[in-house]
Amino acid sequence: MGHQPAGVTFAAIGHLDTWDRASRFVNSLRVTHHHAQLPIATIKSVFGFIPPRKLFEVEVISPVTGKVKGMYIESFISPDELDAAHLHANLRKVREACCCAEREGAAVASLGGFTSIVLEAGREEASVTGRTQFTTGNTLTAGFIVKAVESVCRQRGKALQAATLLIVGSTGDIGSACARYFENSVKSLLLCARQAGPLARQSQEFIDRGISARYAVHVNELLPSADIVICVASSIMSDADFGLLPHDAIICDAGYPKNLAIRQPLNGRVLFAGGMGMVRGGYTFFPDHRSDIYDFPGENVMHGCFLEGIVLAMEGKPVAFSRGRGKITVSAINDIVGLAAKHGVEPAIH
Ligand code: NDP
Repeated sequence: MGHQPAGVTFAAIGHLDTWDRASRFVNSLRVTHHHAQLPIATIKSVFGFIPPRKLFEVEVISPVTGKVKGMYIESFISPDELDAAHLHANLRKVREACCCAEREGAAVASLGGFTSIVLEAGREEASVTGRTQFTTGNTLTAGFIVKAVESVCRQRGKALQAATLLIVGSTGDIGSACARYFENSVKSLLLCARQAGPLARQSQEFIDRGISARYAVHVNELLPSADIVICVASSIMSDADFGLLPHDAIICDAGYPKNLAIRQPLNGRVLFAGGMGMVRGGYTFFPDHRSDIYDFPGENVMHGCFLEGIVLAMEGKPVAFSRGRGKITVSAINDIVGLAAKHGVEPAIH
């Protein structure tokens, strides 16, 4: 291990989270081909009918193993169809995107953001040929979230042992991993999701282990008591009133699409995008679609889920590192964060 076998390559399978981004992206593809800009209404009417396909190649540099090559595969799932009503059509598109990764010869593929449903459902086999290993990328995403929260707390002088941590989306794959990671280092856990049954069971499991935990399905009931908030819900929380938080609260929004539409001023509260990583050695897209997909201020920033597959390719270890839901362990988080650091891939805070 450590020496990258020839031909180990990665695929990042993704989806666009807003129509603004989808429109920029589609138009940038067309401009490349000297066509006029398409209006958003036209893009909306055709986007979901485009079959998943490889859109550009990616090169990422590890200071240890040098250049690794891969590709981005767009699933062309419409940004406003990421809900249960479109589940079957979306599963079909993700499976098509997985076939595309296998056809293109990727040794390991990350299923970014919403596309991880294929592996999280537990019933689905993403690989048809067995040539590609599929990972949700959720372990490194959770790792970047928790390490960034620790780092911001240190910078702000907020002691974790005295803090109450609220996790929105706590019963999900990433949210439950964050809760397990922090259960022994914070004063108290607050858990939030829409369904009361799984929340009650999760809360009881923590209480049975002697951890202080409380839950609510309405986030506004919990916000006044939260010193730190991690948002990892799979849908936008339109009714959350972040004005209810203490003025020195730290908020990490790792949702994709972003969970929060904060309308009121932050008034001293800290808000950052979590689950992102920074590649010290840099990366390049061919053609360069970076500004169509990413609008983070920092250089060489990428989603943790994609970086998990990339780090595995850098290490020459194409394995299905993360699969299923609710199975991410603290030791797996520390292992993949350590592997990422070895290859110059670190948590990004923006
Ligand atoms: P899961 O589907 O496993 O979990 C989603 C969680 O959110 C569940 O607890 C769900 O519970 C809860 N939830 C959904 N909507 C709401 C809401 N409006 N209010 C409160 N809780 C809600 O998802 P994952 O853990 O795989 O992913 C979580 C988020 O992280 C997604 O937005 C995903 O796209 C993003 N992500 C970000 C990455 C990054 O690199 N930054 C990488 C991978 C994922 P219930 O249904 O009961 O409400």
